[in-house]
Amino acid sequence: MIPAAFEYVRPDSVEEAVSALRQAGEDAKVIGGGQSLVPMLRLRLALPTTLVDLGRIEELRGVRDDGDAIVIGAMTTHHDVLGDALVQRYAPLVAQATETVGDRQVRNLGTFGGSLAHADPAGDLPAVAVALDAQMVVAGSSGRRTVPAADFFVDYLTTVLEPDELLAEVRVPKLDGWGVHYEKFHQTAQAWAIVGVAAAVRRSNGSIAEARVGLTNVASVPVRGRAVEAALAGGEASAGAIASAAEQAGEGTSPSTDLTGSAEYRQHLSRVLTRRAVSAAAGL
Ligand SMILES: Cc1cc2nc3c(=O)[nH]c(=O)nc-3n(C[C@H](O)[C@H](O)[C@H](O)COP(=O)(O)OP(=O)(O)OC[C@H]3O[C@@H](n4cnc5c(N)ncnc54)[C@H](O)[C@@H]3O)c2cc1C
Repeated sequence: MIPAAFEYVRPDSVEEAVSALRQAGEDAKVIGGGQSLVPMLRLRLALPTTLVDLGRIEELRGVRDDGDAIVIGAMTTHHDVLGDALVQRYAPLVAQATETVGDRQVRNLGTFGGSLAHADPAGDLPAVAVALDAQMVVAGSSGRRTVPAADFFVDYLTTVLEPDELLAEVRVPKLDGWGVHYEKFHQTAQAWAIVGVAAAVRRSNGSIAEARVGLTNVASVPVRGRAVEAALAGGEASAGAIASAAEQAGEGTSPSTDLTGSAEYRQHLSRVLTRRAVSAAAGL
């Protein structure tokens, strides 16, 4: 199928993009790498009157060090995120999850910001952003605002972004000295997660001082595994302690049933993958 007709705008700056969105009204959409939007346009699941292409805006690309966090530009491709030394050093969980996104072609075009703004709960990066307490920097007509990842995702394919807003960059707090692991369960290579779990663990001698857990595709939004984190904190870094904490992985989830698995199966996978991800992050 071919997309419905639309106006096409290609601004050179964030300000120009925001003003194009404002002028075009609420049926406008921005396009990042097009890896999710173009299929939706072709299937006419998305019918924007205007497409605002962010491809020319240099200030939206790249990774920089910003003290206690690194900042990833929304238009940075998955490929560039994966190969970035700051990401590998300070946000290895982002690199690990990005490595599982689609295939080489998808990673060469798809963007970090597009993956978050698309807000597909089956996407690998929203759960990582929630686990790491990332901060979303949004640009709009009334300037910039920062939204915690936990508040950014509202529902399936829905975020807090207003029609005249775009995601400009993402602040990812540095987790120095933490172990991390992204565990993704999928049936075929390069496929989306049936369930995925992002884990980060800070050990102190033989115990777990702090833990972060984010779950992919177990609700209409990415889920923070707070019950698991609470059960792990201060406890032993042992297989037994981690296994019993992982039993709480279903807390706060409401998985759906689809062709790739039932809700019960996803509940089961949440517990198994949480145990695997936390164990790996704890170095067991
Ligand atoms: C074959 C295939 C396999 C894939 N496998 C996976 C996978 O395993 N895991 C995974 O996580 N993803 C997967 N993806 C999706 C991929 O990660 C996409 O890159 C991502 O979902 C969207 O990013 P994009 O830059 O391509 O955004 P686009 O497709 O351009 O846009 C997606 C949505 O986000 C909005 N948007 C984009 N950028 C911004 C911004 N800066 N501000 C505000 N809104 C914005 C658009 O308006 C649109 O609604 C796959 C895609 C394909 C085609």
